[in-house]
Formats: sequence, structure tokens, C-alpha cells
Amino acid sequence: MDIFTGHTGWIEVVCGPMFSGKSEELIRRLRRARIARKRVQVFKPTIDDRYSHEEIVSHADQRMASEVVAGASEILSVLDWRTQVVGIDEANFMGPELVEVAEQLADSGKQVIIAGLDTDYLGRPFPPIPDLLARAESITKTLAICIRCGNPAKHTQRLVASEDLIVVGASGMYEARCRRCFEPGISKQERFDFAIAKPLRRES
Ligand code: ADP
Ligand code: ZN
Repeated sequence: MDIFTGHTGWIEVVCGPMFSGKSEELIRRLRRARIARKRVQVFKPTIDDRYSHEEIVSHADQRMASEVVAGASEILSVLDWRTQVVGIDEANFMGPELVEVAEQLADSGKQVIIAGLDTDYLGRPFPPIPDLLARAESITKTLAICIRCGNPAKHTQRLVASEDLIVVGASGMYEARCRRCFEPGISKQERFDFAIAKPLRRES
């Protein structure tokens, strides 16, 4: 950005599986923006209240104050228009309107930094992240470490049985897995546990 062309906005997306450091990276970028004396606002969706109502929190317990919104449209209504940098965590829970909201913010000169899951528990692209990737100026894919084998992990393995797209989990409900170790849906071990659990329940 230079003083002759004026401010230009843009969209940065940080995406990957759970435990890959998306929140850490978002927090790092937002801290640097504050050091540069930029006005920063941070948002997270109501659905993700695992650790705190007022902060985004990483798995390694890094924290940053944030505002909670029901969905992306609410960002526009609570935004202070003097804000220069907008951070959004758990973007995959913000709803499809996030795409338009992010574009609008960037078009109006704001730096928009978005962190979210790029795939769901079955390994499918997780809306609206794919659309955001197509529109972003900058994309970072973060990988976790596979809990099974130690390879770079791009998948979020669900460990509990549910076919709901969204099961907001505390620790123990999800783990990072690589392409080879990923078992879409529930793990084989879980399926086996259910198979033997059913007859036992009937007997009791
Ligand atoms: P995300 O926002 O992508 O879920 P976080 O930024 O909240 O990730 O947490 C990243 C941190 O989680 C890492 O720095 C590390 O301390 C911890 N962690 C726990 N499990 C793993 C794993 N399987 N792979 C990598 N980091 C992990
Ligand atoms: Zn693996």
C-alpha cells in the first residue's frame, strides 16, 4: 500500500484441519497489525463457545479478545467503520453470507483475515471456505501432525458417532489425521465398539 494510490483492502485466508495452528496464525497476524497501530476488530461465531465467550482461544491457549456474532451479516452491523483490520475465526461456522461480507469489507479498504476449516469430518470442502479461497488475495494452508503416524495432517478425524455436519467438540472428539490414516466418518474402532455394545445393551 502506498500513499499515492491510497488504501486498498484485501482478503487473507488461513485454512486447514483442526489443530493445524489456524487460530495461532490469526492471532499472530492480528497482534502484528496492532503493533503497526492499526485498528483491529476480531469476530467469532456464537456456535463456537468451547473455551470462552469473549476470546478466540488456540489449542495451545493463546488468547485474543473477540466479539461474538450469530453470523457473518452481523459483522457489518457491529463493525466500527474506522476499523482497518478485521479478523474472523471459525469462519466455516459463519454462514454462506461471509463471502459477500468479506468482499464488501475488502472493497471498502479493510484487511480481512479469515481462519477456518477447509474440509469437514468426511473430508469434503467446507462452505464457504472454498469460495473465499477463490476470492482471496492470499491463501495459507496449515497442516497439523497426524496423531497416528506423525506425518503432516490435512484431515479432521471425528472420533464420536454423529452424522451432523457440525458437532462442536471439546478435546477428545476430534483429532488430526494424514491422508493415509484418515477414516471418513467415525473411526473403525468406534464402529467396532458400537457393534459389540448393542447386544450387550439388549441383554441388560
Ligand atoms: P486450529 O485453530 O487450527 O485448530 P490452534 O491454533 O488452535 O489450531 O492450535 C494449534 C496448536 O495445537 C499447536 O501449536 C499445538 O500446540 C497444538 N496441537 C495439539 N495437537 C496437535 C496436532 N495433532 N498437530 C499439531 N498441533 C497440535
Ligand atoms: Zn497418519
